[in-house]
Amino acid sequence: MNAAEGAPKGVDTIDWVAAGEEAVALLQTLLRIDTTNSPDRAPNDTEAAVLLAGRLRTAGLEPELFEPLPGKGSVVCRIKGDGTGGPPILLSGHVDVVPADPARWSRPPFSGEIHDGWIWGRGAIDMKNMVAMEVMTLLLLARHGVPLKRDVIFAGVSDEEAGCTWGSMWLVDNHPEKLRAEYAISEIGGFTLHSGGKRFYPVQVAEKGMCWMTIRAKGTPGHGSLPNKDNPIPKIARVAQRLGTARLPHHVTPVVDRFIKKLAANQPLANRLVLHGLLHAPLCGPLLDHVFPEPSLANTFDANLHNTANPTMLRAGDKVNQVPGDALLRVDGRLLPGQTGADLVREIRALLGKDGEDLEIVIDQEMPPVSTDPDDVIAEHIGRIVLAHDPEATVLHTMIPGFTDAKAWSKLGMKCWGFSPVELPEGTKFTAMFHGDDERIPVEGFKWGTRALFDLVVALAG
Ligand SMILES: [Zn+2]
Repeated sequence: MNAAEGAPKGVDTIDWVAAGEEAVALLQTLLRIDTTNSPDRAPNDTEAAVLLAGRLRTAGLEPELFEPLPGKGSVVCRIKGDGTGGPPILLSGHVDVVPADPARWSRPPFSGEIHDGWIWGRGAIDMKNMVAMEVMTLLLLARHGVPLKRDVIFAGVSDEEAGCTWGSMWLVDNHPEKLRAEYAISEIGGFTLHSGGKRFYPVQVAEKGMCWMTIRAKGTPGHGSLPNKDNPIPKIARVAQRLGTARLPHHVTPVVDRFIKKLAANQPLANRLVLHGLLHAPLCGPLLDHVFPEPSLANTFDANLHNTANPTMLRAGDKVNQVPGDALLRVDGRLLPGQTGADLVREIRALLGKDGEDLEIVIDQEMPPVSTDPDDVIAEHIGRIVLAHDPEATVLHTMIPGFTDAKAWSKLGMKCWGFSPVELPEGTKFTAMFHGDDERIPVEGFKWGTRALFDLVVALAG
């Protein structure tokens, strides 16, 4: 079966062997640009944005560059449709990457080399692969004159790995008209997940919100030579201990309920029972703690079923012989869909009980959760494209605990879908490579992704 069956004119003239090779070469070039996002070095995202703009111009397109801070450059490019199919589609990807320590890698992280069928480099899956596929999609649409019923917009953005400030957030706040779209297609999803002898394709339809807080314990300052029953340090230590080890209340959101049930339906009986158990508050904790084989897997489900509040920074005192007047704990809180920072503070106060009575809890920064309707028509197109390639696979709609540029796009009311397709062979540890060592992508799986993304765009806009 051909996913492009009944496709608009121009699509059948595409040479997919050549397009695949071109996408691979573009990804290699992108990987060789060190766009590490770190406070320790000057940003270099503009170099990647300029490269992409140059490629887009070769097809007669007119990309625009935005550089609100030196080095934090983004590129936006639009292909016009006639508008009869609805509002635009946005294809977005961030061009920056997290740091890579060459000493921990088997190959240089900015080489873009191909070895044994894999393209190596920081950003190979997060997410220069998607950026290359998106640019390839625009190039093919433009070169082959594919008639479009909607505009297709590409945004290659800066600064996602530092919270999106100078990339997607800046664009949304300063140039919303350049981006406004019905759908935003980006990370995190579309990769093959092998489990229990089956193949799954997670597709992101939700992400948790963020709520960064400061908790302050107050006390009575005094000389270090005297006992002090009102020392704020033991108070804040009790809070850190409690938050770092206990679980907040159990919440089953619709997206997670459906995800777990669909995953369970495709698993052997024992796994099925365990997964269904997670949906029941009294069973969830014991199952996560004692039955789950892998801590990383348990943590993923844990984050899907609870708000979290992780103590991450601790500050108190500046002299060894003086009891300080207060002690501060910074907490990285994450919110399930339907929850707010105020809900999280209530849960934290309830958890701490008497220990929490005199604490001051201040929300420093809050970004709401993002979620979209998993029954939207785009889900059918994604399902059809994945199943055309792998009829045995199951598409799962997932929520991620972290944040992506979807936080910015959702401010403009876009429906955000994480579908950055790549076929991964069994044994690939996707989550370990995401921000981990030896990040790489299989050449053939990437080429399939290039075609799959193009087919999705044509299905929505062609
Ligand atoms: Zn990413």
